[in-house]
Amino acid sequence: MEFETVIGLEVHAQLATSTKMFCNCSIEFGQDPNLNTCPVCLGLPGALPTINETAVKYAIMLGLATHCSIRKDSQFARKNYFYPDLPKAYQTSQFDRPICENGWVEIEVEGKKKKIGITRIHMEEDAGKLVHDGGDRTASYVDLNRAGTPLVEIVSEPDIRNSAEAKAYMEKIHSIVTYLDICNGNMEKGNLRCDANVSIRPFNQSEFGIRTETKNLNSFRNVQDAIEFEIERQIELTFEGDPIIQQTRLWDANQKTSKAMRSKEDSDDYRYFPCPDLPIVLVDDSLIQQLKAQLPELPDVKQLRFQSQYALGEKDASNLVANKKIAEYFEETVENGAEAKQTANWILSDFSRLLNENKVEIDECKIKPNALASLIQLIADGVISSKIAKTVFEEMFASGNAPDKIVKEKGLTQVSNEDEIKSICQKILDENPSQIDEFKAGKVKVLGFFVGQVMKQTKGKANPQLVNKLLNDLLSC
Ligand code: ADP
Ligand code: MG
Ligand code: ZN
Repeated sequence: MEFETVIGLEVHAQLATSTKMFCNCSIEFGQDPNLNTCPVCLGLPGALPTINETAVKYAIMLGLATHCSIRKDSQFARKNYFYPDLPKAYQTSQFDRPICENGWVEIEVEGKKKKIGITRIHMEEDAGKLVHDGGDRTASYVDLNRAGTPLVEIVSEPDIRNSAEAKAYMEKIHSIVTYLDICNGNMEKGNLRCDANVSIRPFNQSEFGIRTETKNLNSFRNVQDAIEFEIERQIELTFEGDPIIQQTRLWDANQKTSKAMRSKEDSDDYRYFPCPDLPIVLVDDSLIQQLKAQLPELPDVKQLRFQSQYALGEKDASNLVANKKIAEYFEETVENGAEAKQTANWILSDFSRLLNENKVEIDECKIKPNALASLIQLIADGVISSKIAKTVFEEMFASGNAPDKIVKEKGLTQVSNEDEIKSICQKILDENPSQIDEFKAGKVKVLGFFVGQVMKQTKGKANPQLVNKLLNDLLSC
């Protein structure tokens, strides 16, 4: 039997406000436990919440950027459940009147574009954190600094059909929230995370199968791996004749496996009801228009502009715009005079590799756009070969020194002096008479051997085009 996979993602994004969702406490990370708390976020009786206006504006901006309709009278609701890190014993969230609904984002997988529907985006607050490495090893400690941190939850339609699409969707959401500057997008810290709902069904079946929800996936890789694992698990169960149980599962990224956490509540179990302490969130047209006007250029639009303005291919453009900082870095390098395609090549290959290996963001690294532009210019001017340029680049990355300084200090200037290279070529030919015979007997591949010897002799500094030409000249006389 062939199965089709059905996936819907629920993405939580922490809003980059300075204060919490319903009180004035700071959301600054890394404070002493329970320092950022007050009667409201501690859930003390009688404390009254107020709504963070910036958080509401951020949620609306996200809705506009994802083609949602914006509800003009959205409402907060209490989602009741009992957790030790949830002091009120309910989470203030939204239920039947979320701020944004019925949107979509476009993803691209292997050159195929597809729209993924967004059911809703609602505002809510984060819970606190349990700490198990405090003084008493048998006790659980609770840190409520995070309690009340503003979140948006973005719920997708079950439109996703495989793990690659899920990853592309997550990447798209990441790029949109970071372009909007409403979330820092740091997945490792959990500031953007996702729950993956997965089910399978026979291809000829129209109803959906029973789904599981794998929680708190905090990297693109984890999203993809957890979904693949879950698809396999469900297919195996089905072949064994075992039922799939609706449940919440927890991904273990080290073991690359998930385990059941609890059987999944239905929304009835949460006994939602409108929060009596908070007013309806009234949004008028003028606010929507004002926020629309403030939206930055978003990734899809930027990609099209990159393709036309810089004559880049779709793939290069899409890779560059996926990360806002990289897109900005690219444009700044080009503004500094570097050729666009060369710039894209550098950024998307050697540069990205080094950034990944060293786990640094492009705007934090030692190479500034003007320095990359100078390096690219040095190659264009024939001062260094592109091979030597890679060495210079690594050195720039490590030391932050300017490329011309590195080239000068290390004596890496490309040798383009014809006489100088000619005499080295002659020397190499003189030393290898048998290879000359082979060449003359028709084994043209031997030319590569000679070029290699010359490059070795000049420590890679000879201009390769010139070496090729001179060797050919010498061999043909
Ligand atoms: P809950 O709030 O209980 O998690 P929702 O109805 O809000 O449930 O759905 C959550 C997510 O699950 C949505 O992203 C939706 O697209 C997805 N989903 C719903 N049914 C299925 C299914 N059968 N298979 C896969 N995903 C599903
Ligand atoms: Mg859910
Ligand atoms: Zn507070």
